Amino acid sequence: MKIAIMSRNKNLYSTRRLVEAGQAHGHDVQVIDALRCYMNIAVNNPTIHMGGKDLDDFDAVIPRIGASITFYGSAVLRQFEMMDVYPLNESVAVTRSRDKLRSMQLLSRKGVGLPVTGYANKPDDVKDLIQLVGGAPLVIKLLEGTQGIGVVLAETQKAAESVIEAFMGVKANILVQEYIKEADGADIRCFVIGGKVVAAMKRQAAPGEFRSNLHRGGSAELIKITPAERATAVKAAKTMGLNVCGVDLLRSKNGPVVMEVNSSPGLEGIETASGKDIASMIIEFIEKNSKVGKTKTRGKG
Ligand code: ADP
Ligand code: MG
Repeated sequence: MKIAIMSRNKNLYSTRRLVEAGQAHGHDVQVIDALRCYMNIAVNNPTIHMGGKDLDDFDAVIPRIGASITFYGSAVLRQFEMMDVYPLNESVAVTRSRDKLRSMQLLSRKGVGLPVTGYANKPDDVKDLIQLVGGAPLVIKLLEGTQGIGVVLAETQKAAESVIEAFMGVKANILVQEYIKEADGADIRCFVIGGKVVAAMKRQAAPGEFRSNLHRGGSAELIKITPAERATAVKAAKTMGLNVCGVDLLRSKNGPVVMEVNSSPGLEGIETASGKDIASMIIEFIEKNSKVGKTKTRGKG
């Protein structure tokens, strides 16, 4: 097969591993920087070009779209779908997962466990909003943040009010969430491929920090998850429509709650913690599922 990996940097661990695994499985793998692609949205004949060449003979595409290029990256992915190239994750699902509020709404509709979460537009409603999610301490998040940047713990009512007002003052979209204290600075990353959790790790925040992101100094270790956690991760992936994703859970006193679903989950942490060849599992999933016509939405929506 000829497989495109949409990634801006072929030296990144995840990109490198996917290239290696693809080649080891006998495929022709090419790394494509979405920002260098240009497209012709012609009726009945959509095309993608890069550096004067036609990108027209790929069988499958693995989107690894960084948060900062979601808009253009998903347009390129959509174009691949219109050309009948099988996407590991569809553009519709990728865009969905990038908006935390939209994701939460979809998950709540399907009854997936979530932290109590609120959202408001006007500063006049701040007090009521804080009340709604159970009062301080609470977590305030930028809707499009990533790697822990834009996630704030407000320990008192006053702190919560001023942080929310400050974010609203600069017109940032935020959500306000119940603080799951009992998680104790740890979260669980479940790596899902094709409706199965293939590996899970626990990430523990650095001392004095509540965010467990590895980019914020957190550390990862292998963990055995409960059947309820497994079921929650699988349901979250299905609800989002993602074939491959990282579902992040918190262990709350009411059971597992989903914090976010990541459509381009990194491979380094999970492969190191689990000792598994996750990259090969992804390639094997593509081999099994990439038959022509299997793309559900073909860029619609
Ligand atoms: P990002 O997309 O930036 O990673 P997250 O929503 O995953 O944002 O939050 C970053 C980290 O902050 C999480 O991994 C978790 O450790 C901590 N965290 C986030 N929300 C909560 C919460 N409601 N209660 C407790 N800890 C939280
Ligand atoms: Mg996160």
